[in-house]
Amino acid sequence: MKLTKLPKEFAEAAPLLKKIEAAGYEAYFVGGSVRDTILGQPIHDVDIATSAFPAEIKALFPRTIDIGIEHGTVLVLWEQAQYEITTFRTEAAYQDYRRPDKVDFVRSLKEDLKRRDFTINALALQEDGVIIDLFDGLADIDNQILRAVGHPQERFHEDALRMMRGLRFVSQLGFVLETETLAAIHANHALLGKISVERIMIEFVKLLLGNHRNQALRALVETECYIYCPGLREYGEALLRMADLPAIPLENETAAWVLLIDQMGLAPEAVRSFLKAWKCSNDCIRQVHTAYQALLARRNGEWNDLVLYQFGLEATCLAEGLLRYDNQPNDPAKISQRYQQLPIHSLKELAINGRDLLQTIDRSSGPWLKEVLTAAEAAVITRKIPNEKEALLAFVQAYLAKEG
Ligand code: ATP
Ligand code: MG
Repeated sequence: MKLTKLPKEFAEAAPLLKKIEAAGYEAYFVGGSVRDTILGQPIHDVDIATSAFPAEIKALFPRTIDIGIEHGTVLVLWEQAQYEITTFRTEAAYQDYRRPDKVDFVRSLKEDLKRRDFTINALALQEDGVIIDLFDGLADIDNQILRAVGHPQERFHEDALRMMRGLRFVSQLGFVLETETLAAIHANHALLGKISVERIMIEFVKLLLGNHRNQALRALVETECYIYCPGLREYGEALLRMADLPAIPLENETAAWVLLIDQMGLAPEAVRSFLKAWKCSNDCIRQVHTAYQALLARRNGEWNDLVLYQFGLEATCLAEGLLRYDNQPNDPAKISQRYQQLPIHSLKELAINGRDLLQTIDRSSGPWLKEVLTAAEAAVITRKIPNEKEALLAFVQAYLAKEG
């Protein structure tokens, strides 16, 4: 097969391939960008594979960075762009079902394509548009099939992460796992226990964010891979319930975690340790926790100004958007507008502060300050009083008088 019109990302990188070829080596575009081009989807990163060894690539290009030279990868800076150029390699010596630490460089494209995970990812594209398809990846793309290159059992033994990659491609592409590949994933699912959480998490999040999430969640349960995902061992049923939710793609990672946690029915106090087990960042944990609490608050009743203020714009809009998975009407833009219209958005915007109170009221500093400010804040947000100094001071006096 020959592509007649290459996407501009390939056209821009074609001179690199020509230069490598002029020096007597082979060079091809490989990996996801070739697959996505054939699928008519936009491409992100252009990867190049070559028979030239890293030192030979560095001799050809003046501006390079060693980013993974022990794995054969050199970053070449070319005009405004940069390209990863990786020497053909085999990964014969696998230990512990993980990526090998050492790779052997080879001069044969076939050897390089053989070690790739799925046939649809084992295509090579020449600079003139000709596609080299040694493992029938084109037919599998046509038939929407995910098939391991070579013997699936061996391939998942070499690197167990490939099983999670397979499931995430189900979600991203809507393809079906070929029978033997599926059976081998099921048979080897426990090998995921050898894979670092960080690597599993990258694939799992991509799985949740794919357009065919529901299909992939079912496959995750069917193959029992979920058992080796942090904190999910007891939640097969929850994952299947999640797979029955409306097939609307999730907007971002935070939304994905909230929807999952909600289906699991986790208590808000359990969110942190669950996400810690996944090694999520503290930032991510904070966002998910707040948005989840906002969702639970919304389910308890309509939004009100205090709840909007308390959880903030991001969490409340996200929670509102998630109502669509409850088949509830929802309108995040309206919530955003309502939030903007709150009289204040943080305590800093309140027209009085602790210092004002100490100056006006004859009491020494103490816990009463915070209590009074919180009461004043609530009164402003619920529009009982305007956010003006005089009105606020009067409110505080009355509050303290009532309290005695
Ligand atoms: P994406 O579009 O998400 O980048 P991708 O297929 O390009 O998907 P990458 O992780 O960028 O995935 O890897 C590039 C290529 O390297 C893959 O297409 C595949 O050929 C090969 N590859 C990546 N990870 C593995 C693996 N664990 N085992 C075998 N081959 C792999
Ligand atoms: Mg890629």
